[in-house]
Amino acid sequence: MNGWYMIIDVEKCENCKNCFLACKDEYVGNDWPGYSASMPNHGQSWIVTEGRERGQYPFIDVAYLPIPCMHCDNPPCVTAAPDGAIYKRPDGIVIIDPVKAKGREDLVKVCPYGAIRWNESQNLPQKCTLCAHLLDDGWKHTRCIQSCPTGALTLRKGTRSRMEQAINEEALETYHPELGTHPRVFYKNLHRFTRCFIGGSVSVWINEQNECAAGALVTLFDSAGKQAGICTTDSYGDFKFDNLEKGSGSYTVRISFKDYGTKTVEAELGTSLNVGIISMNTNKKSVIRTET
Ligand code: SF4
Repeated sequence: MNGWYMIIDVEKCENCKNCFLACKDEYVGNDWPGYSASMPNHGQSWIVTEGRERGQYPFIDVAYLPIPCMHCDNPPCVTAAPDGAIYKRPDGIVIIDPVKAKGREDLVKVCPYGAIRWNESQNLPQKCTLCAHLLDDGWKHTRCIQSCPTGALTLRKGTRSRMEQAINEEALETYHPELGTHPRVFYKNLHRFTRCFIGGSVSVWINEQNECAAGALVTLFDSAGKQAGICTTDSYGDFKFDNLEKGSGSYTVRISFKDYGTKTVEAELGTSLNVGIISMNTNKKSVIRTET
């Protein structure tokens, strides 16, 4: 059976909130009978964007994570409403019945992603419907997807086996898989939000000037001495090893640059870590840590 899946590329989200605004435009003041009652003007959002900053000045990046209802395949919200107040459609979309769910404030707490909001004026729990009323009418996109200027949000329709193939080929992940709800919302580049990096810059004194050491070979080793990454510095002398587990312990960064030899930096990884500017002209060994 073909079903709907949403793919969100964390790398592409710029927190413009067009998705939020398009959702508001579609649902505030509009009843979609059988799908949803109108959303209040203020106080709730069916897609939220969380932001996270990594690293230390000046080696910092920021990632944004749009979080709608995950339309889980093992949804605790549906289990909590055996009377059909929340139900899953054959195409995978999870719907809160706007009539049967009246007065069920208890359902707000059952979603582990916090995707269900309470609408005081409607006396109703509410959430993202994946614009089911539009998809049933032949639309190919939801309003949030249609409004995303960077293409961070996309929608796919296919079988579970085709989706499994895409998960492997495109390195897709779910957010908080340990919750066991089997979301239908998948993320690309989720490591930008959930994991850490070790980065820094390499410099060298040439003709009495401190220059960026572009093209230096940088190798990362874990605490067992196993190579965990290799790269060359860019035009600014910068390097970055991403997708490392938070608090994953000791690493050694080894830098080799032309005739300037090799230098090592010991790094203790708590959260994302800027090891700073490493000058190839001194033999000083550095140890750098972040808090876990
Ligand atoms: Fe239900 Fe929450 Fe999963 Fe959405 S994210 S299907 S509301 S458990």
